[in-house]
Order: sequence, then structure tokens, then C-alpha cells
Amino acid sequence: MSRLDSFIRRLQAQRACLDAAVDLVGDLPGAVFELGLGNGRTYDHLREACPGREIFVFERKVAAHPDCVPDVEHLFEGCIEETLEAAAGRFGGRVALIHADLGSGRADCDAAVSAFVAARLPLLLTSGGVVVSDQDVGWSGAEPLALPPGVRAGRYYLYRKA
Ligand code: SAM
Repeated sequence: MSRLDSFIRRLQAQRACLDAAVDLVGDLPGAVFELGLGNGRTYDHLREACPGREIFVFERKVAAHPDCVPDVEHLFEGCIEETLEAAAGRFGGRVALIHADLGSGRADCDAAVSAFVAARLPLLLTSGGVVVSDQDVGWSGAEPLALPPGVRAGRYYLYRKA
């Protein structure tokens, strides 16, 4: 498989998992968190897919396409180790859907960030809330969910809080 094919497959898997997560939360009340804005592609997709929900974005340093930068009330800029911690008091138990796309390709960094995020997910999510992630952020008690058809295990992760 060429690198182009592999890149396309990765994005198709990401979109399929995001769409599955949006379907899974259905009418469950709660906000959406986007962890890792990057250039804003998945944020833009979530905006389209969840028109009735508030979306809060966490990003170390915003460098997204100008059309894909949230307003200041919906942006937490800085290291997630600080911003997510600060948001926990305000949003605890009130988030319906969290998309975490924080992977850097550096295994040691990614493992540390994933462990940090995984520990906070059950505090942030409402019951029945769903996490969709590029890294394994499963926590004790998380319900692993089936991936959409065509997405191989380990490419993306889906979990629900009981
Ligand atoms: N979902 C994005 C998109 O579709 O364009 C791509 C996200 S990109 C793979 C990962 C992003 O996570 C980067 O913009 C990076 O700055 C951010 N990030 C990684 N680790 C972070 C951390 N510890 N705190 C805050 N942001 C972080």
C-alpha cells in the first residue's frame, strides 16, 4: 500500500469513527470536547455533525485554518495537562462526546499524554458519554465499543462511560 493509500485510509477511519461516535451519543445532553485542534479538520467535521452542541477545543498553540478557529469562549489554549485539569471543575460529568486526537508520533510522549487524558475522561463524561481517540485512552470501567466496518483494531479507539 502506498503512503498516499495509507493516509487516505487513516482519514477515512477517523471520519467513520467520528460519525459513529456522533450517532452513539444521539440525543444525550452534553458538550463536545475536541482535544487537539491541529489544522481544524476534525473540529470542522464535528461542527457540521453536531450543530446543536457546544464544542470546546483544547490545543497547545492554535495554528488552524482561520475558518476553523473557535471563539475565545470555546478555546482552551495551552498544555492540556493544565487546561483540561482547569476545565474539570466546570464540565465534570457534563460532556457527551470527547474526540482526542493528540498523537505526535513519538511513542513516549503519546503514552504520557494518553495516560493523563484517560485518567480524566470518567470525571468529564456524562453517563453514556463516548470517547473517540487516535490513542488508546481506555480507563478502568470503560466500555470498549465496536469500530465501524473497515476500521482495523488499533487504528482508532471508541469507548463509552457506563
Ligand atoms: N484533529 C486535528 C485535525 O483534524 O486537524 C489534528 C490534531 S494533531 C494530530 C494533534 C494536535 O494536538 C496538535 O495540534 C498539537 O499541538 C496538539 N497537542 C498535542 N499534545 C498536546 C498537549 N499536551 N496539550 C495541548 N495540545 C496538544
